[in-house]
Amino acid sequence: MQFIDLKKQYQMQKEAIDERIHRVLQHGQFIMGAEVKQFEDEFAAFCGTKHCISCANGTDALQIAFLAYGIGRDDAVFCPDITFIASVEPAVMLGAQPVFCDIQIDTYNICPQSLERQINAVIKEGRLQPKAVIAVDFLGNPANYQSLVEVCKKYNLILIEDFAQSSGASYHGDRCGAFGDIATTSFFPAKPLGAYGDGGAILTNDDSIADICQSLRVHGKGPEGKYNNVRIGMNSRLDTIQAAILLEKLKMFLAEIQLRQTVAGRYNQAFQDRLQIQHIESGCLSVYAQYALLAKDRQQRDKIIAALHSKNIPNMIYYPVPQHELPVFKDTCCYDETFKIASMYCDCTFSVPMHPYMEEAEQQLVIDTVREALQ
Ligand SMILES: *Cc1c(COP(=O)(O)O)cnc(C)c1O
Repeated sequence: MQFIDLKKQYQMQKEAIDERIHRVLQHGQFIMGAEVKQFEDEFAAFCGTKHCISCANGTDALQIAFLAYGIGRDDAVFCPDITFIASVEPAVMLGAQPVFCDIQIDTYNICPQSLERQINAVIKEGRLQPKAVIAVDFLGNPANYQSLVEVCKKYNLILIEDFAQSSGASYHGDRCGAFGDIATTSFFPAKPLGAYGDGGAILTNDDSIADICQSLRVHGKGPEGKYNNVRIGMNSRLDTIQAAILLEKLKMFLAEIQLRQTVAGRYNQAFQDRLQIQHIESGCLSVYAQYALLAKDRQQRDKIIAALHSKNIPNMIYYPVPQHELPVFKDTCCYDETFKIASMYCDCTFSVPMHPYMEEAEQQLVIDTVREALQ
């Protein structure tokens, strides 16, 4: 059994993908070939934003967004305590300070109340300028944008949507990628919309921010061209071959999102009376980048994991350690936040195989194994 079966997905689209790759090999425009712009246009339309600027990966996408808004030294950037470090790293790389916030007990996304407490703590201390909030749509489930937009307006903060795990998800009728001032995603192969290598994108409706991002991804090029640089930028482009693959995958994406609902629905049905399942707010659609369950405590979680191992069922923990406890952040100021929910989450969470092409029989084995371990 595969945790995420990329081989099966490739088999479904093999001819079309091979043909697309072959076309790139024929025309030879490996960097910024026509497929790149075509994919950017189609992905922007898909997400409902005006601009899409593709780049080399989701981490660079965030860094480019921070650079575009001039976020750096002495700025406080508010981040969820539960996420992948790539949500936090680019801000720190530019000299900003991360301020971690606890998560919601049901959706596992950043908690707007904890966020507001942390903003006030930073203001009261007076050392840092509250500057931006990173909203991560954790495991494919959209963050609470209604509350987050309100808080960001109230304190005049830039809202950045990290939708690396939630391409294709939606929140009250709008697709992820359309929230906040700017949004960034990743096309790492295992993400809901993945390439066959690294890739990322920045989405925005702001014309001038889009221009700056275009410049930043190619060494800060100026309007006069590549060798008339106007700022210090990066070298961060999406390969033409990856864009070609993504164009093909985008055609299948809506059908895959539907299949993800079917698989997740079967898991929900089987587990909701025994374990905590992730809450999806009504009017929202998760793409279940991962299917996570919460056991009642660490002991029960470890017992379930041992049972899965004994049957060779792949499983993962997203994530075992909250950001504020990572060695790299051990000296980072947490103000008075105790991260009670984030800590509980890390003790109890585990993820089981989840992908659009999972067969019912495979799923039943996972379900039976977990349920048996709970007896
Ligand atoms: C994967 C991921 C990223 C980084 O994406 P890369 O393409 O691997 O750089 C950023 N944020 C979150 C939440 C992610 O899951």
